[in-house]
Amino acid sequence: MGRLFLTTPIYYVNDVPHIGHAYTTVTADAVARWHRLAGESVFFLTGTDEHGVKVARAAEAAGRSSQDHADATAARFQEAWKLLDISYDDFIRTTEPRHQLTVQAFLQKAYDNGHIELDTYEGLYCVACEAYYVESDLDDGLRCPIHGTPVERLVEENYFFRLSRFQDRLLEWYEAHPDFVSPPSKRNEALGIIRQGLDDVSLSRTSTTWGVTVPWDEKHVFYVWFDALINYATAIGYSSDPDRFGAWWPTTHHIIGKDILRFHCVYWPAMCMAVGLDPPPHISVHGFLLVGGEKMSKTRLNQIAPADLVNDFGVDGFRYHFLRDVPFGPDGDFSYEGMISRYNSDLANNLGNLLSRVATVVARKCGGVGPRARPDSPLAAVAAQAVATADAAWRRVAPSEALDATWSILRETNAALEAAEPWRAEPGPEVDGVLGDALEVLRLVAVLAYPAIPGACEELWRRIGLSGSPGDERLPAAAEWGGYPGGLEVVPGDPLFPRKTA
Ligand SMILES: [Zn+2]
Repeated sequence: MGRLFLTTPIYYVNDVPHIGHAYTTVTADAVARWHRLAGESVFFLTGTDEHGVKVARAAEAAGRSSQDHADATAARFQEAWKLLDISYDDFIRTTEPRHQLTVQAFLQKAYDNGHIELDTYEGLYCVACEAYYVESDLDDGLRCPIHGTPVERLVEENYFFRLSRFQDRLLEWYEAHPDFVSPPSKRNEALGIIRQGLDDVSLSRTSTTWGVTVPWDEKHVFYVWFDALINYATAIGYSSDPDRFGAWWPTTHHIIGKDILRFHCVYWPAMCMAVGLDPPPHISVHGFLLVGGEKMSKTRLNQIAPADLVNDFGVDGFRYHFLRDVPFGPDGDFSYEGMISRYNSDLANNLGNLLSRVATVVARKCGGVGPRARPDSPLAAVAAQAVATADAAWRRVAPSEALDATWSILRETNAALEAAEPWRAEPGPEVDGVLGDALEVLRLVAVLAYPAIPGACEELWRRIGLSGSPGDERLPAAAEWGGYPGGLEVVPGDPLFPRKTA
């Protein structure tokens, strides 16, 4: 049986959950659900990043301890993921003892292997990023490229991770593993960073105590980024359960945004090499989610909370929009008008109207009892093609393509109904066949779309008379044409997705 260890980044507790976090997390959730449908054993991890100078400062400003501050703010992410139906198996917090122990064990090993050394560092530092920059990466030579704020010149005695020694090994790894980072544009971006030459990275701080203590020198705490990346190792038992770790690690797939590409696609594989571990097999990187063409930021006040959109579109309307309308990889631009338009065309019309129409005609022409599909229906081939396309797309983290393929079955089915007009015809085998085909398509789509819109698919399942949940079905058997048994009561009801007006 296949296995998958799927991760989102852990989110910084100083942030308020916004649609950018939600985009990454909903994508990972839908991918996890697809693999579960395929009968694979999935371990889906998310969590929060709770150490570092920024958290300590924010806690101080709020007049509470760093831990109290982290507790209060981590809870907001848990609430957001509950709202959005995120089916994570573990929520890791970097202040948990299990994580502190793992960070110490992991980095002690890198130290023992000679890849961490004491040195003096002077550099240009962005407090908001908690990262050093070289001048050529800055805007106008003085401002952080992410935050647009001036960087500070900082001098400190730090432990350094000897990243510079890993350049060749990283290039070899990328060469030998063409699908290590995807899509290719992001792989090229990572390769570009490595080819430019790598500097050693400062790995510890003495300027704060809010972090994991360096075990061999307790005046220092680990720099928050190194602490954060190791969460992936903690959650599957790096230091507590080597067998469990050994079973999951070779199946790791990280899903991240391009703002943290350098850390995940350059630092993290080198850190793994430094402790004698192969890098994770897959990292999928998406672009920025823009609002009105601009990057979301606290200072621009253009961050949108998921709850605001869920109020208007429902959880499934929210999930569908970001999965379908924002292709994974390039930058995407969010607009409320675009969200209404996609919702109405795909959810209210193509899916919702098909269900309403079929339920109405089955009530009028078949006494409310759904007939079976025709084994030789032309829709069978359409469905088979769509299933193959969707499966391949989900597996390479391309939800918009997977859903487009799924919706192609609905479009064909609506066209077939328009052509056959069963609502005008006399009851009989012809009408039964057309409606049976449509019901079979609704069954199939309830399974195929379940990873994206689980709540609506469960309701759809119930309306066409099936019991249980489409989430309990297993591919590929559940995707074979003819699974709708017929003879079931088709339940009329309110529109699955009521139409929206601007
Ligand atoms: Zn910055």
